[in-house]
Amino acid sequence: MLYMTKRNYLDNAATTHLHKEVMKAMREFEKKYYGNPSSVHREGQQARARIDFARAGIAQFFGAKPQEIIFTSGATESNNLAIYGVINYHLKHRKTKPHVITTDLEHHSVHSVVKILKARGVVEATFIKPDSSGMITLEKIIKNLKKNTILISVIFVSNEIGSVLPIREIGKALSNLQPKTYPPASARHERAGNLKPIFHTDAVQAVKFYNCNVDKLGVDLVTFSAHKIQGPKGIGGLYVRPGTKLVPIMQGGTQEYELRPGTQNTAGIIGMAKAYELLGPLEQRQKNAEKIKKIQEIFLNNLLKKSRVKLNGPTGDDRAPDNINIAIKGIDSDTLIAKLDLAGIAASTGSACVSGSTEPSHVIKSLGKLDKNSAVLRLSLGKNSKYIKIL
Ligand code: PMP
Repeated sequence: MLYMTKRNYLDNAATTHLHKEVMKAMREFEKKYYGNPSSVHREGQQARARIDFARAGIAQFFGAKPQEIIFTSGATESNNLAIYGVINYHLKHRKTKPHVITTDLEHHSVHSVVKILKARGVVEATFIKPDSSGMITLEKIIKNLKKNTILISVIFVSNEIGSVLPIREIGKALSNLQPKTYPPASARHERAGNLKPIFHTDAVQAVKFYNCNVDKLGVDLVTFSAHKIQGPKGIGGLYVRPGTKLVPIMQGGTQEYELRPGTQNTAGIIGMAKAYELLGPLEQRQKNAEKIKKIQEIFLNNLLKKSRVKLNGPTGDDRAPDNINIAIKGIDSDTLIAKLDLAGIAASTGSACVSGSTEPSHVIKSLGKLDKNSAVLRLSLGKNSKYIKIL
């Protein structure tokens, strides 16, 4: 295969290029506002005012209040804060071993954390497997609720196979349960076994196309990031519903409503707010989704014509419009990705977060049908992606 200079970037689930408006907003902010937003002097307060404004914009995107948005270094940290934060709060106030429900479709920053806590004997955990098409139903989640379930963490849109999970339905089902109270424990509630667990979703790949209003979804914690939507890297956040019991995972300051110490990444926050503003209202995002879906269909129709290609993940509306994930017989993943790269196509086998690994991920393995001599190829489309022949 010839080396091509023209590049086709089809790895938008790993990251996206910075939007020029985002770059401009960050540059203008950095030129003028270098104060520490926690300082009381004018320089500090000027930076603080802009951070507050950015927080309000992001809160609006999620239908939340500004004080419910906690800025972090990215979605990995947000997921860690959600899980360790809730579990550590529980352990501080109760002697009982908590139970966590999560899925095999989660990003590593949820999946590995729960796996480690389970292996250490800190929690009981149920990992819900998807069906062979990569979907998980509400019933599967609810069936696994136990008396001691304190946390449910379900990804909104799979970054690997594009499954769109029924977050709204889960939120609705949970809303009929009694909120947990810490302390004092009400013996009646402890026995009843119908306490409402905290509901967390990782919405990193969902914000582009779907309604992420926290009340509509019925969620308590929402993880989000900036660099998947043409924002900067190293900045993200966690929505925290008032009354949700969690403790910080780091110590050393009272920033971010005492949930995330450390001087904020101020320019990153400004850039992230701009990126969310540019995503626009739901109607605009849905229009984008329709446009991208058409390109996705052309890719899928062409790829699935080949007998050695099989689709990983769901079809139709159960699949996010930007995700293509296929298994290709007769080639290994390393060779395929390298060949595509030489041909000018940036693609991946899945999550970039397990640095350079081309081994099938826990997500692909959970589908239970991967052939030994098959490569896994993920193509994730962006706003300006066009069809290009892959195989
Ligand atoms: N969750 C999902 C669903 C993701 O796709 C990613 C990025 N691959 C993350 C979490 C981690 O995000 P960040 O890079 O902001 O830490």
